[in-house]
Amino acid sequence: MHNTKNQRTSPVWRSLWVVLVYLSAGLAWITVSDLAVDYWANDTDLLSEVQTYEGWAFVAVTALVLFFALRRQFRHDRNQMSLQNHQREEIRLLSQFQQKVIDNASIWINVWDPQANVLLWNKAAEKISGYSEQELQGKDQIWQWLYPDEKYRTLIKKTAAEVSAGTREVDDCETCIRTRSGDERLMSWNSRCFYSEAGVLIGSIAIGLDVTDRRIAEARLRHRERQLTTLMDNLPGMAYRCLYDEFWTMKFVSSGCRELTGYEPEAVIDNRDVAFAHLVQEEDNQKTVQLVEEAIGAAEAFSLEYQLVRKDGQVIWVWERGRAVEDGDGLVLEGIILDVTDRKILEQELSELAAHDTLTGLYNRREMNRLLSEEIIRASRYGRHLALLWIDIDHFKLVNDQYGHPAGDAVLTAVCKRLSQGIRSVDAFGRYGGEEFMMLLPEMDGPEAREAADRLRSLVADHTISLEGVADVRLTVSIGIAVFPQHGLTADALNDMADKAMYRAKADGRNQVCLAQASEAESPEPVASDAHQDNAEFK
Ligand code: GH3
Ligand code: MG
Ligand code: MG
Repeated sequence: MHNTKNQRTSPVWRSLWVVLVYLSAGLAWITVSDLAVDYWANDTDLLSEVQTYEGWAFVAVTALVLFFALRRQFRHDRNQMSLQNHQREEIRLLSQFQQKVIDNASIWINVWDPQANVLLWNKAAEKISGYSEQELQGKDQIWQWLYPDEKYRTLIKKTAAEVSAGTREVDDCETCIRTRSGDERLMSWNSRCFYSEAGVLIGSIAIGLDVTDRRIAEARLRHRERQLTTLMDNLPGMAYRCLYDEFWTMKFVSSGCRELTGYEPEAVIDNRDVAFAHLVQEEDNQKTVQLVEEAIGAAEAFSLEYQLVRKDGQVIWVWERGRAVEDGDGLVLEGIILDVTDRKILEQELSELAAHDTLTGLYNRREMNRLLSEEIIRASRYGRHLALLWIDIDHFKLVNDQYGHPAGDAVLTAVCKRLSQGIRSVDAFGRYGGEEFMMLLPEMDGPEAREAADRLRSLVADHTISLEGVADVRLTVSIGIAVFPQHGLTADALNDMADKAMYRAKADGRNQVCLAQASEAESPEPVASDAHQDNAEFK
């Protein structure tokens, strides 16, 4: 159909058509005019005159027909020409637009023919490489300039040849080019070959992206990440980042996790094998949650100390410092956790030392007085009795004199050991100083305390103490008792009354137990019978 239309508009066809019209008009005229003349002209003169005019008329009619035929043809041609002009202008604008797009694209676009000669070299290619299109057009030196190293160039050209041959397409392939100024730039390429409408291979197009800056930034980032990881891995303890949820779901833990918890970092991340919250000692968990909540509320960092159960079951003390930060996923906690078990043990040892007597291991005077005050408060709150015993070894000086001070120490320790065996777990036993001791017997009234004290006295008096290979020593103790609230409402008052009772026991011949007497009180404060009435809580 298309071909038929083309044939009709070809010059030959159109000429034939005009001739045909002319012949048809001539033929029609000759036939019609001859018949008309034969019919109308009967005499010869008229016939010759009519034939003369017939000739003229023939010329006029055919001219008229030709005029209309040619005018139609010319009009058609003129329309065709204007259409073609219009299309040509559109094509020109389109190719101009394409050229502009190619030129102004921020990415490198270049085209080369199958012989590797440059056909197109856009502005971005000029800008990045430093080489202009004019100096490259139709030539292939660019390969040498961009890739001066021969080995490398051979490799690149091999790939380019494969692309040109249509056997390979290149996607995000990176090469390092040398620019005119001698700089090296890293380019990422996408390349394809392309064909004409007739299927003939025209060349290859390469689109390149300068990724130098991006790669430098990525390398810097990687370097920083590496530094950070090294730093974190060398930190004492474990750095972490976790969700603010009931499991403390870890999103990141440093390799210190291994040493701290006994678990591999992967086992803890996302609660894969164990949730971090489950490693925290149960009684500490509630407290830590509360402290973290308070810190978040005040927008402050938090510091925690709690016990952690390691994978091997060992319980350790840890110190944690962290802070809540807003993340894309919500609130997360970031911080560091250190093993402070050694410090905790040291602290405990120090506090033990601070509260205990070094020779006997009993509580020291300060701790005993603290406990006494504490027990008085408790006894007062619950309306209970509390007995305080003062114990002094009789004639202890003789032991020292006879066997020497070190032997005296051993005897002192042995007496303490023996007395310790005679008390309950709720009782407290301490050394006041020298060979004087204090004992706190909660919930014991006067008679009960007297009974207990007498048992203690017998415990010492009825057994000898063996000084290995030296002698067997037999000792006695004198005990004074003061009871809360009868004999005093304060620690000082009770101490004073127990001391006095003890000296009464000494005076009574030693190896005695004496209960304090209200008359011994220095001030009217510890009046035995009134004590219960004075103390509102004591019922
Ligand atoms: P009393 O029956 O009157 O209590 O006679 P005593 O000899 O025990 O007299 P006193 O309580 O006044 O003397 C205590 C002695 O205990 C004096 C001191 O040499 C001795 N002593 C005090 N502390 C220690 C100690 O830590 N080690 C030793 N070995 N002896 C001590
Ligand atoms: Mg003594
Ligand atoms: Mg003494």
